[in-house]
Amino acid sequence: MKTAIYPGSFDPVTLGHLDIIKRSAGMFDKLIVLVLKNSAKKSLFTAEERVSMMEGLVKDMPNVCVDTNDGLLVDYAKEKNATIVIRGLRTTTDFEYELQLAHTNNMEYKELETIFLATGMEYSYLSSTVVKEFASYHGDISRFVPPEIVPLVEAKYK
Ligand code: ADP
Repeated sequence: MKTAIYPGSFDPVTLGHLDIIKRSAGMFDKLIVLVLKNSAKKSLFTAEERVSMMEGLVKDMPNVCVDTNDGLLVDYAKEKNATIVIRGLRTTTDFEYELQLAHTNNMEYKELETIFLATGMEYSYLSSTVVKEFASYHGDISRFVPPEIVPLVEAKYK
């Protein structure tokens, strides 16, 4: 059984993230969407809120589950017997950092392969940071995030 992990901050989850989830769910037996608690990053939503948002979005995808973790990704992957990490690639800027991360993870856990999925073209400009920036000026974010996420983000900037 091939288990893949799609890790990220998802603060908040965007249509770009959801596109990667749908595409990778079709490629593996099981997909774990891993909401990272990154203490170095100040997040808009708590890890619990991000998990709950994600759970709502994947509830009809039978081989996808959501989890959270504040340790090293390699340790989590070993614990879950997962040998694949999914990451999305938007631009060349993403590439350098992602490659560094993939090499580091692979050094710690030889069997762990990182698979990069090219972002859907319509989402290549999209990031959680852009969504927050738009929302902070009360801009329309409905083109960036799933409909059920819109009011949750807007509520943070009321
Ligand atoms: P991180 O804080 O780890 O970068 P993010 O939540 O920003 O986490 O992103 C998680 C993953 O999703 C990363 O692999 C990132 O490259 C990818 N990603 C981010 N935005 C998009 C997008 N618009 N389309 C596809 N993939 C994306």
